[in-house]
Amino acid sequence: MTMQIFPPLKIPETLAAGPGPGNTDARVLQAFANSGVADHMQGDVLRGMIECKHMLRQIWGTQNTYTFAVAGTGWSGLDTMFAAVMPGDRVVAFSNGTFSGIDALTLRIKAATPAEHAAGPLDPQAKSVTVIDVPHGQSVTGEMVEAALSEHKPKWAFMAHWETGSGRINDLRGFSEACERHGVMGLIDAVSSLGVQDFAIDDYPGIAGWASCPQKGLCCLPLTYAPVSFSDAYINSLTATGAYTYVHNPIFEARHWGIVDNQDVEKGTYHRTHSGYAVAAFHESLRLTMQDTLVKRAEAYRIHEAALREAVTTMGCEVTSNMTSLVVLNLPGDLAGREMELVQNCRADGFGIWPTLSAPVQVRIGILNQLNATAIREIVRRFGDAMRAMGAEVDQTAIDNVLDNHFIPPIAAQ
Ligand SMILES: *Cc1c(COP(=O)(O)O)cnc(C)c1O
Repeated sequence: MTMQIFPPLKIPETLAAGPGPGNTDARVLQAFANSGVADHMQGDVLRGMIECKHMLRQIWGTQNTYTFAVAGTGWSGLDTMFAAVMPGDRVVAFSNGTFSGIDALTLRIKAATPAEHAAGPLDPQAKSVTVIDVPHGQSVTGEMVEAALSEHKPKWAFMAHWETGSGRINDLRGFSEACERHGVMGLIDAVSSLGVQDFAIDDYPGIAGWASCPQKGLCCLPLTYAPVSFSDAYINSLTATGAYTYVHNPIFEARHWGIVDNQDVEKGTYHRTHSGYAVAAFHESLRLTMQDTLVKRAEAYRIHEAALREAVTTMGCEVTSNMTSLVVLNLPGDLAGREMELVQNCRADGFGIWPTLSAPVQVRIGILNQLNATAIREIVRRFGDAMRAMGAEVDQTAIDNVLDNHFIPPIAAQ
């Protein structure tokens, strides 16, 4: 047998202008690369994890003791959050795009009985789980949640905060209040909103579990940590039922972050191997978020999304999203239906925009950690060029005027 050793892998720098991962901040990469080799029980690694836990509670505005992070990406945190859902549990899940659709599948997997798994192992039809399908492009409203919870009276309810598949913001306040009224434990996919929007967990007492990711609002791709947070009600339920997992059981996992029996302890104890590089990178991303402040970040996302939105609208595109880190759009008349082709042309050119991952096909352009005029102008320029290359007429003067209006500050009155 001949062996084949491939040449060293070189990955080019691209312009990450999709829904995520976002542009890892240079400070985060520095922290990753500057950290020494140290095992997961070394004093500074453990101290770093404890400090991350404390910063995370502040960023996420919560007194939940069980606030820590799970090694991996968004799905790792979500899997941990769904760990307390047991076979036969009654669940209502709202699905309005790709990601909440996969979350709903996860919930059917967790809540299915053995017989339901045997009948459909990859897509079990758990009778105890009701999935409310909200059409692509629409948001989940408080009224929808109220109606479904009063009809089905579940133990758990699930919703994505920001559905990145369709770029829609769902009604967190309405969801939390409906959960409170019906004594339901809410579970939230906050993968796309943490670090982008200014919100505090403790303002939403109907919600028992939260899960996010490292590589979107926190700008921390080098495979690090997915933040999670759990209320006492969640932990009590988990204590009573257990979960069919060791590694993603929140009570076990929290021990390495110095959380034991609902109390902070001085030092973490072994749960799994942690990477000193990853801890240092995650720590720096949390410091960066606190230094920026969520108030200022959220405002910067609003300003830059508004500029991008108006620029692509001026090109004739129709924007259907309302998230501030992303615009989701349909191409104008002549190019309608050629969204996938345009995205592929851009991606082949190192301009990393995305299509939607489920029907209908739309274009998604993201601005994670691209919060300056130069970056937005570059994204707009490249997108306009891609439309021109497909035969569209794009009025550059009109677009330049739009961007100048957004970015050139008015001269202060004397
Ligand atoms: C990105 C995303 C996920 C998946 O996260 P991974 O980091 O790819 O594991 C889940 N939910 C939402 C809302 C997302 O935006």
